[in-house]
Amino acid sequence: MVSDTGGAKRSCTNQTSNVDIAISGGGLSGLSAALFAVEHGLKVILCEKMPFAGGAGLFPEGSLGIGTRYQKENGIKTTVDQVFSRVMEFHHWRCNAPAIRALLNESGTMIDWLTDLGMTVKNIRTMFPPEKSLYVWHILEGGGARLVKVMLRHIRERGVAVLTNTPVKRLLIDDRGTVTGVKARKADGTQLTVRAKAVIIATGGFASNKEMLGKWVPDVSALGMAKLMYRGPAVDGRTGDGITMAMKANAALAGMGTLAGNSPYLDNEPAIRQFSGPDHMKQMRCALSQPFLWVNRQGERFYNESFGSVFSDVYNAMTSNGGLMWSIFDESMKEYMENNGPLTPFNAIVVPGQKMTALEKGIAKGMASGFAFKAGTIEELAGKIGIRPEKLRETVETVNRYARRKHDPDFNRRPEHLIEFDTKKGPYYALKGLRAFFLTLGGVVVNKDMQAVDANGNVIPGLYVTGQDMGGLYDSTYDLLAEGSASSFALCSGRIAVRNIVKAVNSEQ
Ligand SMILES: Cc1cc2nc3c(=O)[nH]c(=O)nc-3n(C[C@H](O)[C@H](O)[C@H](O)COP(=O)(O)OP(=O)(O)OC[C@H]3O[C@@H](n4cnc5c(N)ncnc54)[C@H](O)[C@@H]3O)c2cc1C
Repeated sequence: MVSDTGGAKRSCTNQTSNVDIAISGGGLSGLSAALFAVEHGLKVILCEKMPFAGGAGLFPEGSLGIGTRYQKENGIKTTVDQVFSRVMEFHHWRCNAPAIRALLNESGTMIDWLTDLGMTVKNIRTMFPPEKSLYVWHILEGGGARLVKVMLRHIRERGVAVLTNTPVKRLLIDDRGTVTGVKARKADGTQLTVRAKAVIIATGGFASNKEMLGKWVPDVSALGMAKLMYRGPAVDGRTGDGITMAMKANAALAGMGTLAGNSPYLDNEPAIRQFSGPDHMKQMRCALSQPFLWVNRQGERFYNESFGSVFSDVYNAMTSNGGLMWSIFDESMKEYMENNGPLTPFNAIVVPGQKMTALEKGIAKGMASGFAFKAGTIEELAGKIGIRPEKLRETVETVNRYARRKHDPDFNRRPEHLIEFDTKKGPYYALKGLRAFFLTLGGVVVNKDMQAVDANGNVIPGLYVTGQDMGGLYDSTYDLLAEGSASSFALCSGRIAVRNIVKAVNSEQ
């Protein structure tokens, strides 16, 4: 498939290939596109900048699907009409309705396709109460890591060149503005020119490009905002390359200021250690999100602590409160977690009933590194975390009053989560939480066929954009009601782009 055009001496310096599709990025959307393309008999080259494929796609627990075999077998009757209406309501139609509809339409077939390839749907999970849930989040056995492995195996078996350590550097654009291929650099330094009938940009957004985040995302650059934590791979290739390249082809951008935010993570420890590190870190992260008492920098409550798992809402509430929170609990609450487990789970990482016996170790670690504080009195604790002592006491006593009445007239915390503090006997604990995010949601404007368009809505010939490089699918906030939409949109967009490329290629023949 890859043909050298240089002589023996030059073979390490220049190489040209001719294919149907050049794919930039080997994460979920790039792999989905590559696999779907070879299934349709197209010639493909996939360039991946990192030493391994998968990108952020190694992490998802599950993916959105509507009308899947699994749902039918389990009596779930959610329709695309229902989900589409809820999504549009969520975003107040400030989003790309035709593209969203196309992606939702594709989602059921996409999940069935993955199961035919060897993935297993473990169950359908939801973060919402039954009356609110759409029951679309298909949890995949082995998560993203297994999914990537399965897709890669099928791709390689069909002879596709997956070139790792090969960043795409620029697009080839002819005089008429048609995208005709890419230039990439291979691991051995060879300059690779790929001439293609279509190019798919699938480079995963710009979550690890600090400069782009500072430029585009107001949440990050606002004055007085606490540091934003990043919940992504330890080594991350998502530096906005695809978006930057598409801009050079005149592509329009949308939603660049929108992030997929997370619930808080503990300060001074990489977020990744808190969801896949040692037990004491996972349990401390779980303790941080328990619904005992959350206060902002002023020592005031700012959120309904019962909904700590609705991470996009927590992110927004924290953004309105300077980006920082303190989670406060007393000794008996700590003992409750040690003996009985969490009141609210931390995803599938610390589940109800799982005794949090590593808390003591985690608190010692946190006191040494600055994310945990312990004091004999409420006032002393307040002093340690920079809150006015009388304010923190007032807030604790207010919550105690609500606990006695089992009613929170401020933010409707669930009655079973209203637990009285012992105000006379310490010790007391405070954990410092910072906002975190895991994806950028802004990028290139596409039509329903995943073709990039310019500011006037005209298609840029030859250029398709998928996954986290697409922009304008979300308004201000990641839509958790449509649970698992990010990975689903990535996987679906790869398939949709290829389906349209197949049509274009066939019509040329
Ligand atoms: C911690 C975490 C948990 C998540 N959990 C969920 C979940 O439960 N449900 C859900 O729906 N979604 C989840 N997601 C989101 C999901 O992983 C993404 O939506 C999805 O991976 C996006 O696919 P993509 O193809 O756009 O980007 P990625 O999968 O990130 O792939 C992009 C690839 O492009 C490569 N690349 C970048 N620049 C270049 C270049 N110049 N040349 C070549 N290659 C390049 C990158 O190295 C990377 O491998 C999660 C993400 C994270 C980080």
